[in-house]
This record gives sequence, C-alpha cells and structure tokens, in this order.
Amino acid sequence: MTYNLDGKTAIVTGGASGIGRKTAERFAAEGANVVVADVVTDGGEETVESIESAGGSATFVETDVTDPDAVEAMVQTAVDTYGGLDIAHNNAGIEGETDPVAEQTEANWKQVMDINLTGVWLCLKYELQEMTANGDGDGDSDSDSDGVGGAIVNTSSIAGLSAAGSSAYAASKHGVIGLTRVAATEYAEADVRVNAVCPGVIETPMVEQSAAENPEEIEQFVGMQPLNRMGTPEEIANAVVWLCSDEASFVTGNAYPVDGGFTAL
Ligand code: NAD
Repeated sequence: MTYNLDGKTAIVTGGASGIGRKTAERFAAEGANVVVADVVTDGGEETVESIESAGGSATFVETDVTDPDAVEAMVQTAVDTYGGLDIAHNNAGIEGETDPVAEQTEANWKQVMDINLTGVWLCLKYELQEMTANGDGDGDSDSDSDGVGGAIVNTSSIAGLSAAGSSAYAASKHGVIGLTRVAATEYAEADVRVNAVCPGVIETPMVEQSAAENPEEIEQFVGMQPLNRMGTPEEIANAVVWLCSDEASFVTGNAYPVDGGFTAL
C-alpha cells in the first residue's frame, strides 16, 4: 500500500476495462471500497471479482453515463452500500469515428460529446451534490472519510491539450479540462479537489481496436512519445490514485499529462 485510502469510498466509471479497471483495482488495493460503473455488465463484474479475489471490496452498478437517472443511481449506490462518497474517477469514454471535420457525421459528433463530455458533467453534478452535502467549507480540501469534501479525477487525454485525435474526440477532451478547472474553483471552498489526467497512447482495448483498424496511425503517435512505447493502464492508475490521495492535498484544477513526454515536444 502506497496511499492510505482505508475506509474511503470511490466510484470509477468505465470500470469494466482498460484504465478504469486498473484504477478500480488500485483504489481497492489502497483500502477503498469501490463502486465499479459501466455500460458493460460482464466486464464490470470481472473487475469486481478481481478486486474481491485480492481481498478488496467492490460493487458493480450498470451505468450509462449519458443517462442522468442512471448516474444519480450510481452515486446513490455508493451511499447505500458504503455510507457515502469520497473519491471519483470519471473515466468512461469512447474514441468515435476519426474522419476530418468536413466528413464528420452529426451522429458521431453527438455521441462522442454525449459520452466523453456530458457524461463527465453528469457524474460531477451528482458526485458534487453528495460530496458537498455535509461540507464544512473550511477550505482544507480533505478527502478523508469524515463525510466532508472529496477528490475527483476526470479522464481527459493528450487530445485535450493538443490536436492529437479526431475533432469530436479532441473537442470533448478539451471540454473535460475546462469543466475540471471550473468545477475545481467552484468547489474548493467545499473541500472538493477536482483534477484531470491526460493519458498519451495507453495499451488498452480502445487502442488495440484502433491499432487493428489503423496500425500506422498508432505507430506514429507512439513515435511522438519520447519514451517511445505505449503507456500501461497501471501508469495512469498511479497518477489517479495519487491525485485522489491526501498526498495531493494542495493540488486542484490541474490537467496532468501522463504521456511518455508527448506534450513536451
Ligand atoms: P476502454 O475502451 O478499455 O474503456 C472504456 C470503458 O468506458 C469501457 O469499459 C466502456 O464500456 C466504457 N463506456 C463507454 N461508454 C460508456 C457509457 N456511455 N457509460 C458508461 N461506460 C461507458 O478504453 P480506455 O483506453 O481504458 O479509456 C478510458 C478513458 O481513457 C477514456 O475516456 C479514453 O478516452 C481515455 N483515454 C485513453 C487513451 C488510450 O490511449 N487508451 C488515451 C487518452 C485518453
């Protein structure tokens, strides 16, 4: 155990796969109770089994992050099952089609924005309502288990900081950073810290699918990461867990690249 999250409760969206699964496993390994949320049931249940077989505590809740009722129910599951909410990783996302702007379909644009940006806003809305329900407003930004305040990390991307990726994807991920900054400033007084992580090319099912469809594009992006390899989901989970821990108690409103040096170039 590196960060003590004993007794805390965490939600992870997109927890059935890739980065979300590793973050959920890592939160649990640090002692947190984890609500695993995803549209995919079998993958979500597998994450819970993996956490439980390692001695941790987790619950799966089928959640489409674009559905306000489902997101509200997801937060309520944390409250009903574990007595509150201290931590959230709003991570569910899709890549969508990669056509240039003029060839982009409206259906793709709306779907990517709905899941990647509106989904993060909906999660923030209900998570912040719960995290501020008993806020003491003393400004000490604690994410401990006293029912006051919390820590949230939203998954953006290097596409939120640069022109990497398609237009809808990049617009949605730039939007996540804007939303993160505003939420951090609005809720600092209520002791809630809000940050974003910006992964580079990470070896997950999302990238495996892109690599199968367009291997040259993935190779090109990996070549633009000075460490010259894909990152692992564990390397993103490491950053998320730190940001959600009390070791990051003075950190809010930031977007952290975890990208093998991509944005340094
Ligand atoms: P992944 O496909 O392995 O996982 C994404 C998860 O999100 C899946 O389990 C999927 O079912 C879930 N999801 C999709 N739509 C949903 C919805 N409407 N409601 C709830 N869950 C939904 O991909 P990943 O690489 O682990 O991606 C996780 C996040 O990281 C995404 O936001 C992605 O944009 C971001 N990201 C990934 C990379 C990368 O290289 N893998 C790079 C930058 C950012």
